[in-house]
Amino acid sequence: MKILVIGSGGREHAICWKLAQSPQVRKIYCAPGNAGTAEVAENVAIDVMDIEALRVFVEHQKIDLTIVGPEKPLIAGIVDVFEARGLRIFGPSKEPAQLEGSKVFSKRLMKDAGVPTADFEVFDDPQRAREYLAQARFPIVVKADGEAAGKGVVVAQDYAEAETAVRQMMEERVFGASGERIVIEECLSGPEASVLAFVDGETVRPMIAIQDHKRIGEGDTGPNTGGMGAYAPVRVAPQSVVDEVTRRIIEPTVAAIRATGIPYRGVLYAGVMLTEKGPYCIEFNCRFGDPEAQVALMLLESDLASICQAVVDVELDKVPVVFSQRAAVTVVMASGGYPGPYETGVPMTGLEAAQKLDALAIFHAGTKRDEDGQLVTNGGRVLAVTATGETFAEAKERAYAGVGLVRFDGAYFRRDIGWQA
Ligand code: ATP
Repeated sequence: MKILVIGSGGREHAICWKLAQSPQVRKIYCAPGNAGTAEVAENVAIDVMDIEALRVFVEHQKIDLTIVGPEKPLIAGIVDVFEARGLRIFGPSKEPAQLEGSKVFSKRLMKDAGVPTADFEVFDDPQRAREYLAQARFPIVVKADGEAAGKGVVVAQDYAEAETAVRQMMEERVFGASGERIVIEECLSGPEASVLAFVDGETVRPMIAIQDHKRIGEGDTGPNTGGMGAYAPVRVAPQSVVDEVTRRIIEPTVAAIRATGIPYRGVLYAGVMLTEKGPYCIEFNCRFGDPEAQVALMLLESDLASICQAVVDVELDKVPVVFSQRAAVTVVMASGGYPGPYETGVPMTGLEAAQKLDALAIFHAGTKRDEDGQLVTNGGRVLAVTATGETFAEAKERAYAGVGLVRFDGAYFRRDIGWQA
């Protein structure tokens, strides 16, 4: 089987790495990929949003299955374009991808489906939003409807903070059209976890619960990033919680989407808050998280190619989806300055030595080979060192031993990944 993976992050390297272990997979392409995907796949220089060029490539190369890593092409409707041509593709089509693309869509669907989520109101008029805030209780949460690169959510402590968020999103349009509408919702509290599931439209096969670290600084401080690390298992989210999230959040959502006539196929990612009243859904993503994918795929014992095919064929009930009981930790190494401005083209060393460590894999993100074949940095998040162990402590020790061997000027990483464990 020939597979195309779309994307260029650590998530996509982990997907390629896992697919490469499958006896069914003869050839993997990655568009556009990075220096790590080039070791297990053939990189193709096509942008993830150039849906036409991707389609033409898949038809020319007679690719059997395309797997979409990032949300943007999914929200833009790549699956609809491919399916209209009879091409097999893993991921939700445009309408159900709105679970991630529009907070208004996802909140309304959750409410209609009886999924536990914070109480909310939708506004398309800033004046009405201000009137609502004037009589609201704080803290309160203000969210831009559309995508805002992880910055569209403000937990406001008082009226002034909430009003600023409304003004910036709706009037100054700092997130463009994503701020045309906003959601104002009740502030919940409790530990957070992510529960990902493979979904074929009917069958839901949950993965493990994972916790990630979004902030740049140790102790979860400082600005948000794409994610600085992740780990599993999560002490506050054992199997019983995963089952509850599946039953109360993921299954009713999949059923509600199916009732609209366009079933959800792909990975459904529920970001949940474990409140005193049980798990509440904070957000949905329509794909694997990055770096959650690195943790999940290191622990997946079953064949990823078979699972993805079964999702496309609506036969997920027929294949095993088994995860190891081991622990996994992934530590992201970033360029100095990230998430602000940073240098690229910085030479990197030590990866080969690190990769020789037991139960460890290095998933590249912002890397490339320069004209001389030297491995250099090429992005904010550079790579994710991922290790497993019998215990969390063992996995963490291994991952940091690997991190200690990788060198590049300005390298930054958090030393406290998994502190909650
Ligand atoms: P991402 O970049 O992960 O996609 P996002 O921009 O889609 O993020 P959310 O994940 O919806 O935003 O929210 C970001 C964070 O804001 C959550 O992880 C949570 O910590 C906080 N948050 C969101 N909604 C609430 C809520 N109702 N009560 C308390 N905190 C909340």
